[in-house]
Amino acid sequence: MKYDFVIVGAGYSGCVLAERIATQLNKKCLIVEKRNHIGGNCYDYFDDNGVLVHKYGPHIFHTQMKKVWDYLSQFTDWIPYEHKVKAVIDGTEVTVPFNFNSIHTVYNKDKAQKLEDLLLETYGSGVKIPILKLRETSNEDLKELAEYIYEKVFLGYNLKQWGMKPEELDPSVSGRVPVFLSRDDRYFQDTYQAIPKFGYTKMFQKMINNKNINLLLQTDYKDVLDDLDYEKLIYTGHIDYYFDFKLGRLPYRTLNFDMQTVNKEYFQSGAQINYPNDHKYTRITEFKHLTKQKHSKTTIAYEYPEEYEFGKNDPYYPIPKKENLELFEKYKELADKEKNVYFVGRLADYKYYNMDQTVGVALQLFEKRIAKR
Ligand code: FAD
Ligand code: UDP
Repeated sequence: MKYDFVIVGAGYSGCVLAERIATQLNKKCLIVEKRNHIGGNCYDYFDDNGVLVHKYGPHIFHTQMKKVWDYLSQFTDWIPYEHKVKAVIDGTEVTVPFNFNSIHTVYNKDKAQKLEDLLLETYGSGVKIPILKLRETSNEDLKELAEYIYEKVFLGYNLKQWGMKPEELDPSVSGRVPVFLSRDDRYFQDTYQAIPKFGYTKMFQKMINNKNINLLLQTDYKDVLDDLDYEKLIYTGHIDYYFDFKLGRLPYRTLNFDMQTVNKEYFQSGAQINYPNDHKYTRITEFKHLTKQKHSKTTIAYEYPEEYEFGKNDPYYPIPKKENLELFEKYKELADKEKNVYFVGRLADYKYYNMDQTVGVALQLFEKRIAKR
């Protein structure tokens, strides 16, 4: 069979592009995926006890982009869900991102009120301040607060998650969870926040259910590419692997998920509890809080960050840090010279994309480059 496009990877990037190419251009695609399932890191499934779980960690959809929301809404209904996270600090559950409620949880009333007033006076209401910025304050009281948050929320978590301190990474990483001058306890303030009603995998199935799309699972594209008859390649895997690591290896971070089913209806107070300072894991997710599934048992996932090793585990996170981004740019130069190959997605772009950004970038690639030809 002759394909117009071979697409490497059946995650968001690969599936969105397959869907667009199949339905809008009426062209034939083959998706080659090395795992035994579609959905990439957003894959969910019913475990042995019948609880719907996210195999690669908690996935909460949130976006400001109406276009992305409308696009995905063709393939799924949604359950409204607004994520809230607590971090255990000295035995107490405290709201994260750290906000006015957090301040009132950890300090006595007078001190908390004084800090709240000072923050409002200095920065204004509703403002989000990355912790590394807040640490630059010259005000002594705010400095003490900043150091407290840095030590109790960020430092331990970062050492576990990344094996380094927050300031050793690009500020955008700790900036994802800024101090929020508000009483809004939600993790995200985006207009659209939801979980696919029947799960992510069902949404992906619907997306690629098209006569123009074929799927080959459990196959590394390098094992079959030479035997395929195709015009163009879309590559959503890690970029250094495509080039046989010829400029060196790009570092990634991985996680090990320890899933446990507990014989009670609920295990913890919410979907996600972080442990910045205690234990080897960073957080525990309880999926039923996300999916709203009714079940007499519940499944939780402990997340243990680990070093990524090619062939041993999966590259989940690019590590945004100057020297890594410089190496990526060199790979990007090679990528730009490849003829009839498009590189796209969290691994190929070496960018810490959320789901909505991934979809946005894939749609843009389709509209600006693929459909225009
Ligand atoms: P991927 O999902 O990684 O898909 C790439 C696919 O390519 C994979 O299936 C892989 O097996 C396949 N592949 C790679 N190499 C080859 C090869 N050589 N041959 C064949 N196939 C190959 N985003 C949010 O918006 N909200 C969240 O709550 C959220 N939580 C997250 C939690 C974790 C732990 C992680 C890791 C990510 C989270 N994300 C979240 C981000 C989200 O997972 C990504 O934005 C999205 O999955 C990126 O899609 P992608 O298609 O680019 O990559
Ligand atoms: N972070 C932290 N403590 C927390 C939550 C987050 O230090 O309690 C930092 C940490 O560097 C983490 C980053 O903020 O990697 C981004 O957090 P997010 O929840 O967005 O991580 P993800 O869900 O992408 O793993």
